Amino acid sequence: MDAETISFYPRPPEQLRDRFARQLTYLRISVTDRCNMRCDYCRPAPDAYRAESHAQILRYEEIERIVRVAAGLGVTKLRLTGGEPLVRRDLPRLVEQLANIPGITDLSMTTNATLLEKYAHDLAVAGLQRINISIDSLNPLRFRKLTGGELAPVLAGIQAAKAAGLSPIKLNTVLMRGINDDEVADLIDFASDSGATIRFIELMPMKQGMDWQQHYIAIDDILKRDDLLQRVELSPMPTGNSAARYLPLKSGRGKVGVIMPMSERFCEGCNRLRLTADGGLRACLPADHQLNLRDLIRDGGSDEAIRATFLRAAMLKPEIGLYEFDTEREKRSMIHIGG
Ligand code: SAM
Repeated sequence: MDAETISFYPRPPEQLRDRFARQLTYLRISVTDRCNMRCDYCRPAPDAYRAESHAQILRYEEIERIVRVAAGLGVTKLRLTGGEPLVRRDLPRLVEQLANIPGITDLSMTTNATLLEKYAHDLAVAGLQRINISIDSLNPLRFRKLTGGELAPVLAGIQAAKAAGLSPIKLNTVLMRGINDDEVADLIDFASDSGATIRFIELMPMKQGMDWQQHYIAIDDILKRDDLLQRVELSPMPTGNSAARYLPLKSGRGKVGVIMPMSERFCEGCNRLRLTADGGLRACLPADHQLNLRDLIRDGGSDEAIRATFLRAAMLKPEIGLYEFDTEREKRSMIHIGG
């Protein structure tokens, strides 16, 4: 075989490794920092929050270009998030662009599902494979108080996701003591009846001024409760790189996920990078280091320069991500970074 023949074979992707030998294969992309809900634990106070102007937000072509470079570095898995991804106009177009990038094998989205009934079919046709839906309560009044939104469209969105063939459907609930921790059993039953997997997430202190101490509840405390023990086997299933641990349901109808960013960090197996809506590349949710891909691209930066930025971001990934309050925290709430 001569050199020319060899060059026809695709080059195996280079690997994006950090200083701790973790291979980074998963990019979470925030497509907007705007949201149609007002969840208190996620959004800063109005005077501390200003959505970026449209000009500051990455265009779809810019996101696509960044992902092509990332795929060349071995990124295979993408998740679209926000803000609320479905408030961004024409999202199925971006999904289609990303689904067609060689090397991308897993394309999913995290959404509050309020607009999903309208878009589920188009998203699935465009190439979205699976979906995570945030739902913190099944009580319409409580839901409205927590989010400023309505529960009914979210329930319709879950049904639409199912009808569109998005699979699996995961439901994410942030557990808050005294707010929704009395709904654990109902949420498990609801998910199981809907053919979805519920995942309970520990509340993270992402925002200055939130009453985190009062509302934080460790998953371990929930796992001791009778209503949970009646439903769940306490023998974790194998998880791979997932942030969640899964416990089988005693009914045999699925499983329950628990995500414990506070009580049991999952940094060891972390394979993630994040792209903020305005083009910041971050290697760790709570760590502050962020590299600016938007300015690099708009200043005429080459693909090689984008690639070098990914390699640099990987080097900045800390071994462990620490969540702590500090005076700067307000700038980094979930809605800005992308959940
Ligand atoms: N708008 C979409 C949604 O609601 O799913 C996507 C973005 S949202 C920031 C992604 C996830 O982050 C949601 O499930 C939300 O509950 C979670 N989240 C936001 N702030 C959080 C916090 N302080 N602690 C734990 N989870 C949080």
